[in-house]
Amino acid sequence: MSQVLSADWVLPIEGPPIERGAVVIEDGRIAAVGTADELGAGVRYEDAVILPGFVNAHTHLEYAVYAGFGDGLGDFAEWITLHVQRKARIGWEEYVDIARLGAALCLGSGVTTIGDCSYSGAAAVACAELGLRATVYLEVFGADVPRALEHFARIRDRAQDAFSDRVRAGVSPHAPYTVSLELYQACAELGLPVATHISESASEVAYVLRGEGPWSGYRELLVEPAGTTGTRLLAAHDLLGRHVVAAHCVVIDDEELGVLVSTETGIAHCPRSNAALGCGVAPLAELRVAGARVGVGTDSPASAPSFDFFEELRSVVLTARARAERPDVLSAAETLELATLGSARALDLDSEIGSLVPGKRADLAVVSLAGSPFLPWEDPAAAVVLGGSPDRVVAAFVDGEPRYERGGFEWHELTAAALRARRAMLAPPAGAAPPEAAAVGQRAS
Ligand SMILES: [Zn+2]
Repeated sequence: MSQVLSADWVLPIEGPPIERGAVVIEDGRIAAVGTADELGAGVRYEDAVILPGFVNAHTHLEYAVYAGFGDGLGDFAEWITLHVQRKARIGWEEYVDIARLGAALCLGSGVTTIGDCSYSGAAAVACAELGLRATVYLEVFGADVPRALEHFARIRDRAQDAFSDRVRAGVSPHAPYTVSLELYQACAELGLPVATHISESASEVAYVLRGEGPWSGYRELLVEPAGTTGTRLLAAHDLLGRHVVAAHCVVIDDEELGVLVSTETGIAHCPRSNAALGCGVAPLAELRVAGARVGVGTDSPASAPSFDFFEELRSVVLTARARAERPDVLSAAETLELATLGSARALDLDSEIGSLVPGKRADLAVVSLAGSPFLPWEDPAAAVVLGGSPDRVVAAFVDGEPRYERGGFEWHELTAAALRARRAMLAPPAGAAPPEAAAVGQRAS
């Protein structure tokens, strides 16, 4: 079955913008991209842009209602203890309610694929239900390999029915300060896509490298210091590669940058999270120049503090230009490329998604700029990046199927269910026993 969509502009990402463009979809894939004169107008979107669906390379859907939790806390142990206590107050059903809202917010932001780190596995269920493409990396922590693998098997089995061609299973050894080398190696042996967090902050690097810095007082929450940086540790043991996506990579030197590039490791750049947690600004321009497989992620609302992908795009542009002290270091068109094809490369999915070219999956977003100061058109990429917002997303398609249409979700029900879970986390039932302080298991960034 064939379907044609057209708009004022089509931005294929691979190839120049097409004015009065059209996209032909057949059997869930892109059959042709060109002008509406050539291909027909089909369903026509006025004052709008059709582009590949955004790819959010780093999310934690199950933290969708964590906005503002622990904001501004400078003490790592206090911050993590707060999260552990609150998470202990909810169960599987609540995780799914929260993740379902997170998946809806992503689709409503024009995102059609995510790379999600999920400690409960609820993200897989939510993505399967809502039709969001995902790699759901089931999260493990600690130095106890059998215990971590048992947790992994348990959550994989619980979410088993959710995994499909559209929702891939992966594994996420959390980070080199919370996961031992032996557990990283055991995860690699699973043969799945891998997500991890690397060099998010100077405090983390000081601990991993020398057991020093503000985190050295909390060794019981962490694994033993590696004596080298996370990038070097993983590279030395052949644990990097195209199947790995590393979130953050803020505090890296030139040699580490070279290692990430030469191993073709994916990188998820999360500038709002990094700024909110006081971690710094990752060397995005340097990574791009070096040819890194770098994309964009929101991380979780605990830090970001939302899944609003347009806010993330603006932060990508602004932080890159501020860091380089140059306005031309990253254009709007380059930002869109990072957020689509770049993120697809970071997740090693670029042969299937990330650009509008015949043969790829028909994953696309329609963004309207009607009534905005960006019309009449000058630069459609700048209009989307600088003027876009979730309420300007008209539709999002995955495999050619409309998975979101403006106003189309039962937002009230989704939100009410997720907010019940947030309320339970904030206010434990009267007389409830205080939750046990569990081991590190629940970072939210
Ligand atoms: Zn994260």
